[in-house]
Amino acid sequence: MKTALLGAGSRYWLLDARVPTALLAHPEGPSEADGLSRVDIRIEDGRIAAVVPTGHGGEDGIDLRGGQVWPGFVDAHTHLDKGHIWPRSRNADGTFAGAINAVMADRTKAWSPEDVAARADFSLRCAYAHGTVAIRTHLDTYMPHGAGTWRVFRKLREDWAGRINLQMSSICPLDRFKGDDGAALADMVAESGGVLGMVTRHSGGIHDDLPEGFQEELDHFFSLAEARNLDLDLHVDESGESGARALREIALTALKRGFKGRIQAGHCCSLSIQPEDFAKETIARVAEAGIDIVVLPMCNMYLQDRVPNRTPRWRGVTLVHEMRAAGIRVSVASDNTRDPFYAYGDLDMAEVFREATRILHLDHPFGDWHGAAAASPAEAMQVERQHGRIRVGATADLVLFSARFMTELLSRPQSDRVVLRAGKVLEATAPDWRELDAIVGL
Ligand SMILES: [Zn+2]
Repeated sequence: MKTALLGAGSRYWLLDARVPTALLAHPEGPSEADGLSRVDIRIEDGRIAAVVPTGHGGEDGIDLRGGQVWPGFVDAHTHLDKGHIWPRSRNADGTFAGAINAVMADRTKAWSPEDVAARADFSLRCAYAHGTVAIRTHLDTYMPHGAGTWRVFRKLREDWAGRINLQMSSICPLDRFKGDDGAALADMVAESGGVLGMVTRHSGGIHDDLPEGFQEELDHFFSLAEARNLDLDLHVDESGESGARALREIALTALKRGFKGRIQAGHCCSLSIQPEDFAKETIARVAEAGIDIVVLPMCNMYLQDRVPNRTPRWRGVTLVHEMRAAGIRVSVASDNTRDPFYAYGDLDMAEVFREATRILHLDHPFGDWHGAAAASPAEAMQVERQHGRIRVGATADLVLFSARFMTELLSRPQSDRVVLRAGKVLEATAPDWRELDAIVGL
C-alpha cells in the first residue's frame, strides 16, 4: 500500500476504505458492524475532493481492500513540558503524591528553556509520526517563572504550525490565582492565545474534600477568564476520594454565572465512586452547562488505587457511558508521557484508543466512540473545521491501516500504519530515545 501511495501523484482515489461513521463529516448509508462505513475517497492536490460509497469512485486508484482510514488524530490533553523526564526523575512508588513530589523537584532543578524545548519537540515528533494533527498541552504555570515555559511553547507553536496545531493551557493549583500573581498569569495566558487552566486542589493538597474558600476562589478564577474572554481547561477530582466533588461545583458555577466560554474538564475520577444519585445529578448539571469531558484512561489506571503491595481494585476512570447518554461530549487523550505521572506512552492516539476501548468498554457496540479520538476533541478544541473528521474540502491528513475490522485494528500496535499529510506519505518516524540521553542525564 505504501509503495503504491508513494507513486500515486497528486490526484488519486483511495478505493474500498472502511471509515468509522463517526469520523465522516457527511455519512451516507447505513454502517456495518462496529460503526464502520465503506467509502471511496478522492484526493486532489492535497485535499479531500470527494467521499462516495464504495464502488462509486474511479476505476483506477489505490485498492485498500477494506482497510480502515481515519482522519488525523486529535489529542486534547497532554503535558509536553513534563514529558520524558522519567530517566532522571522517577516516581519512587508510582503514586499521585510521588508524582507531584518528583515533578516539583525536577522542575526546580532542571527546567531551563533548552531542556523544556528539547523534550517537547521530541514529544511532538512522536505524535506527528503516529498521525496526530492537533494537540492541547497543559503547562505548569507558576508566576513569575512560568513565563519562561510559555515563551518556549509560543515558539514551538510557530515552528510546528502546519504540522501540528498546538494549543496551550495553564495548570496550577486553584489558590495560585489569588491576587496580583493570578491576574498576571491570566494576562499572560490571554496574550499567548492560550486557555486558562487550573487543578481543583490547593498547593500541597490532594483531591479530597473541597479546600476552604473553594467557591470564592472558583468564582474569582471564572471572573479572570470572563474579563479576558478565555476558555477553561481544568484538572478535576483526580482521586478516588469521596470528598472530591469539584465537578458539580464547576458546573453549577458556570450555570450561575452564565459563563460564555468553553470548558473542558479532565479526569473526574472520583465521580465513579460517588453515590448514584449524586453522580446522576452531577452529570445532569455538566450536560446543562455544556462542559466537555476528557478521560485519560492510561494515566488514571496507572495512578489511581495504587497502594504498595496491594492489588488495585479500581480502574480509576470516570463515568463515560453515563456522560455520553446525557449528551456530554467525551474525548480520550494521552495525558502524561514518560514522566512521574505515567512512566510510559508515546503520544500515540491509536494506543490511547486501543487502551481506552479495553479499560472503558467502548466496544460491543462501538457506536460512535471512534469519535473520541478525533471528532470530539476537535470540537472541544474548536478546530473541527480543519480536523477531526473526513470532510470534502479539508486537507487530506489521514491515517491508513491495513486492519479492516475493529478486532484487527485493536489487536496490533498498528506500527505499519501509513500517515498521509496533505495527500502525501509522511516519512517521519518516532525519534530515537537516545537523542534525549544528554538532556535527561543518562
Ligand atoms: Zn493532565
